[in-house]
Amino acid sequence: MSTSYERKMLEELKMPIQKDVERALLKMLVNNHGVIKEFGAGEKIVDELADEFGLNEKQRAANLETIYTKENRVKKSNLWHRLLFRAADSLAKEKLLSRPTQTIVLTNKREWMLTENGYNQALEIMGVPIEQKEVLPIRSFEVQKIVSRMRKQERPEHYSPFENKRTVNTTQKTRLRSRAFKQAVREAYNFKCAVCGLKIYSPNALLWEVEAAHIVPHSANGKDDILNGLALCHLHHWAFDVGWFTIEDNYKVLVSRKTKDLPADFGKLGNYDLMRQLSKENLLISLPREHDIYPHPAAIQWHRENIFWR
Ligand SMILES: [Zn+2]
Repeated sequence: MSTSYERKMLEELKMPIQKDVERALLKMLVNNHGVIKEFGAGEKIVDELADEFGLNEKQRAANLETIYTKENRVKKSNLWHRLLFRAADSLAKEKLLSRPTQTIVLTNKREWMLTENGYNQALEIMGVPIEQKEVLPIRSFEVQKIVSRMRKQERPEHYSPFENKRTVNTTQKTRLRSRAFKQAVREAYNFKCAVCGLKIYSPNALLWEVEAAHIVPHSANGKDDILNGLALCHLHHWAFDVGWFTIEDNYKVLVSRKTKDLPADFGKLGNYDLMRQLSKENLLISLPREHDIYPHPAAIQWHRENIFWR
């Protein structure tokens, strides 16, 4: 609870009311992929939110002074930062955000992060249909937990890229897992296509072009797991899924001999020749930094034997 002194200052300076700041924070979180840093001086987000409320210089600079008589010192704290913190703190109490102390365990960063409930509420405020949740690359604490587990798993020697049919997954669980798969794969490959390196997002910087491709596809009961995943641009994802190319155990690209039978004008994008580019000798795909999350040979082998056209 704010002290009466703080409340008086908030009123005198006509600062925004906390509920409105909470709503603005939720929206800002969606626009920042679900996370924002702790509030401190110099954080971009602090100024952006101040701009949104049209705060003047005085409102932005106002300091609250706490006098510690015993120690004979005065502690100054910025009123706007405090208001932001109180809003975030209140959202965390309602379990709409995770606190920096909770998030750091998963991401090593001191950040406020949306929870699934917070994400739902933010979309509602923004008037975005809830189904968009599956498409938008917004982090949530629950999904981040699965991502962290996926990235930290020990690389198994014997690996099954197939979903265990006996595991009864609720729809909710499956959805979270699917979002975690997309997030983990795109992040691990630094949002670039593993084959051509294409990296681009939408003008609002929210949607990445790169896709998280399954090596053993869902249609063959493939797992939503980083060891069964690969980040590919739309074009290479398609070519991989239909079997125009595959990957060898040493992560070299292997192209179908059937390319020879293609009409001359096929697979051309201006001067770019899709098949010729794939057929380059010793073309290695780009891989994540950590070896433990490279695509598993068991998954790649299945793709070579079942999808690829030799
Ligand atoms: Zn590509």
